[in-house]
Amino acid sequence: RYHSDHDALSNCFNRRTVIEALERLQARHGGAARCAVVLLDIDHFKSINDRHGHLVGDRVITEVAALLGRGLDRATPLFRYGGEEFAILLRDAPLAQGVALAERLRAAQAAGDLNGLRVTVSIGVAEWRAAEGSIDHALARADRALYAAKAAGRNRVVADDAPAPASPPETV
Ligand code: GH3
Ligand code: MG
Ligand code: MG
Repeated sequence: RYHSDHDALSNCFNRRTVIEALERLQARHGGAARCAVVLLDIDHFKSINDRHGHLVGDRVITEVAALLGRGLDRATPLFRYGGEEFAILLRDAPLAQGVALAERLRAAQAAGDLNGLRVTVSIGVAEWRAAEGSIDHALARADRALYAAKAAGRNRVVADDAPAPASPPETV
């Protein structure tokens, strides 16, 4: 059971479980619910692989996951969302709470020392409200904010500046 839910390299919950968690969030909540969606991506990871090799890259993923995990309480799982990307879903949290958590995690990672390697993360945060419908929109906004954090120089947190609509967007 553990291995079907967890990723062996990072010990995080795996990609499959994040999809399930998103579906559960959407199914459980009425119109009043919300959640902060936090997407984290290791900066310049390809160059860590290129300079130090894939095994060191793997170790970095493991250690970044461990450091991020230490910054979360037991009720808040860390998901490995992609290769060197992680996700956190903060239930019932507004955008500002997600941003505060993200900033704490970013600073902890920037201050950490992985055997002499300086590894930073960029983070995008968006808020999902049940009333807006599918959580995919919020994921896309968090991803856009993450992209903006990369473009602005990395090792930073960017909050989505287009707040969640109160009702599902019109389809035209
Ligand atoms: P950016 O700061 O823009 O995020 O740059 P980046 O180099 O981190 O981003 P990019 O997406 O170009 O590179 C991610 C790399 O992560 C590419 C892929 O080979 C590597 N990768 C993905 N999964 C793993 C893994 O499990 N282990 C290792 N060692 N590398 C991985
Ligand atoms: Mg990436
Ligand atoms: Mg990256």
